[in-house]
Amino acid sequence: MALYQLHHPGYQSSLKVINAEGAYLYTDDGRRLFDAGLGAGSQILGYCPKEITTAIQQQAEKGTLFLHNNPIIHQLCEKLQTVLPSNLNQYVFCNSGSEATMRALRYARAATGKNKIAFFQGGWHGMNEWTLQDDGGRFGFFEPALPNGIPDDILKHSIALPYNDEIALDIIEQNKNELAALILEPVQGSNPRDDIFPFLQKVQEICKKNNILLIFDEIITGFRLSIGGAAKQWQLQPDIVTYGKILGGGLPIGLVAFTEEVNRTTFSDSTKRMLSGGTFSANPLVAASALAVLTKLEMLDYNYINTLAAEFQQKTNRHLLSLNVPCHIAGVGSFLRLYFTNVKVKNRQHRDSVELHSHFQQQFRNCMLAKGTLWPTNGIIFTGFCHTTEMMNALSEDIVSSLHHCMEQNYE
Ligand code: PLP
Repeated sequence: MALYQLHHPGYQSSLKVINAEGAYLYTDDGRRLFDAGLGAGSQILGYCPKEITTAIQQQAEKGTLFLHNNPIIHQLCEKLQTVLPSNLNQYVFCNSGSEATMRALRYARAATGKNKIAFFQGGWHGMNEWTLQDDGGRFGFFEPALPNGIPDDILKHSIALPYNDEIALDIIEQNKNELAALILEPVQGSNPRDDIFPFLQKVQEICKKNNILLIFDEIITGFRLSIGGAAKQWQLQPDIVTYGKILGGGLPIGLVAFTEEVNRTTFSDSTKRMLSGGTFSANPLVAASALAVLTKLEMLDYNYINTLAAEFQQKTNRHLLSLNVPCHIAGVGSFLRLYFTNVKVKNRQHRDSVELHSHFQQQFRNCMLAKGTLWPTNGIIFTGFCHTTEMMNALSEDIVSSLHHCMEQNYE
């Protein structure tokens, strides 16, 4: 009999988590670990918040899957209308962020009748085939690195653009007649930054001018930069937005939200063949969880998590500077990253060319684990409503001492 193999990066570690509460994960060998990434940002309320687990339990007793209309999904849509930008009032539900971005690209192609899509290098839109030409650097940046199993033909229909670089605007203009859409994360997980707004404005302007649909992938920024996400916070006007993560409250969800104009040229156009649906899409269990998440988030003040993050960032950076450790924390709102360089990077490619080597980074993660912090697999640090100043101060001290220790080991 062959031994089973579990193929998933997060499952390769020897740690086995048996339960979670607030900011902590508990392992089968009795350890309590601080999760600096809060479930890749999904658990903005912390693990197992009472309101969410109660909503899930109550709905589980009534039924988890009907494949028929149910009132909870309608209540959720009504709530989404009050929370998200008001012009994004058409919703398609699915079961993951990857599925949402895949569907969003398909709707954009259907709406415009054009085939090509563009996306930014260093971005991540999940496992959908179309945006893996540049997968965020996993296979290296210096050759186009399409994962095996995806036909090369896909490259004919997608363009990877340089991020935070005005050359991208020229490439968009040159391809305007073929481009159906540009998909982007308003803040890239690989280089979260607070100075990207002017670039986004230019990108929006060029898309609107050339009838290229603008898709925001707000799977991280949605319900995080503000309850209404980046589009609402920064008053930008994407045509289609994808959401996931936080919305599900720990259950799998994807949402494609779009304007009435996109709806008019897709689902409401009787000449078009459009598909929606899916066995688990819009099921009442995830709807109950999502409704409870939004109800809770509406009562909370995002200044709390933003201030925690800002103070943590300032304190850590001051301390690193005083010890001559060439690393820093940067980001926006409650969405931060530790850069293994003191250079302010332009984008992911630049980041990879200046950061301390991957062996150093692994040593750092091991040090953090020894001190009781599980470093996020995607490297993104999120603050959440379960965090306290004391927790963030402890995290800051552990980061500084771990980096200092690794510097001494490697460079002195
Ligand atoms: N888009 C962004 C910006 C993401 O960060 C992710 C996941 O990390 C995805 C899409 C894919 O979402 P999922 O992992 O739910 O498929």
